[in-house]
Amino acid sequence: MSGYKTLEFDSLCVHSGVGEYEHGPVVPPIYQTSTFKFENAAHGGSLFKGEQQGYIYSRMANPTIEAMENSVAQLEGGIKALGCSSGMAAISTTFMALLKAGDHVVCAESVYGPTSTLLATIFTKFDIQVTFVDSSNFSEITKAVRTNTKVLYMETPGNPTLAITDLKKCADLANSINAKLVVDNTFMGPAIQRPFEFGAHVVLHSMTKSLNGHADVVAGIIVLNDMNDYKLFRKVLNQMGGVIDPFNAFLVHRGLKTLDLRMRKMSENAMKIAQFLENHPKIEWVSYPGLKSHPQYEIGQNQHRMNGCMISFEVKGGFEAGETLMNSVKLATLAVSLGGVETLVQHPASMTHASMDKEVRLKAKITDGLVRYSVGIESADDLIDDLEHALNMVKIEELV
Ligand SMILES: *Cc1c(COP(=O)(O)O)cnc(C)c1O
Repeated sequence: MSGYKTLEFDSLCVHSGVGEYEHGPVVPPIYQTSTFKFENAAHGGSLFKGEQQGYIYSRMANPTIEAMENSVAQLEGGIKALGCSSGMAAISTTFMALLKAGDHVVCAESVYGPTSTLLATIFTKFDIQVTFVDSSNFSEITKAVRTNTKVLYMETPGNPTLAITDLKKCADLANSINAKLVVDNTFMGPAIQRPFEFGAHVVLHSMTKSLNGHADVVAGIIVLNDMNDYKLFRKVLNQMGGVIDPFNAFLVHRGLKTLDLRMRKMSENAMKIAQFLENHPKIEWVSYPGLKSHPQYEIGQNQHRMNGCMISFEVKGGFEAGETLMNSVKLATLAVSLGGVETLVQHPASMTHASMDKEVRLKAKITDGLVRYSVGIESADDLIDDLEHALNMVKIEELV
């Protein structure tokens, strides 16, 4: 398709990654096969030697998976992507590819829970050191850097506080110390934020969230913008084995077609809901990148095309009030995960971040009454009615 690179983002969502296939299907077929037939011994040999292009075995490459990978690579503005069996497979593969014993990682403290656990408990077994910092305060990152720092690992907006990290500053710092800036872009996705534009070296996602968008797949992806990095990562993924399967790749590729549309509607809804919450007497504070009250509002506006679907807020009355709200919403579904078409709500202190040491949790500003709300594509009016009703159930006696 000529002139491909010049298409607007919403057009790319629909058309990127779709190739030519036998019989002319409009969407890539699902090549649900583990292995591919060689024409003869010499053909198999030349595929293995890399003298000829072709498919061998689906852990190594598969056309349905490649179609989806090419789409995400284009949407992120990278050159190549590697589909993984989950977001965590993308994250662990990335650390495996970039780190060796004796290396050090500077990691944002407000990251996906299992990411910090992985670094703090599993990679430390292989003598990889980690320092967690409040990455919304850039000087903390600078101070944490050591001579053996090889990776700056950032998630912005952070989970679940929505603290925003300045990606350009992080990229400049990484370049100056010969380290890689890795960005988990799950919360915003490429319709909203494209970390390569700010100098990131590796962008990864849990595609379980907004890229697939329909809460029916667990998958991840690593996007690279350097061919040598791609070759290295591909080898590591192939050997570690955490690849995506063709059917899930097909579903994600289908979800991508409406990515821009979904993120627009979700961002629009989220802005209305954030404003409603900000003016509600039972709400202590609201964190949403689109509100001027967000502490890193300016950085966010510079990094984001829209404001995203994630809102966190603190209900007055702490833990119990948070619980009452959880038990009183009817339209929003009480579940972890995010970025799907249905609105989800969860309470990090008792759920996703319950295993975190309380002191560490509070230091990371994940307070007892913090509620994380992932806005879907329902009517904003219905969602506001639902919250209004649930907040009415929070008893005045519960207010401190
Ligand atoms: C969900 C999530 C992950 C992990 O992804 P899985 O697909 O569940 O393995 C990583 N990072 C962020 C920001 C997430 O929200």
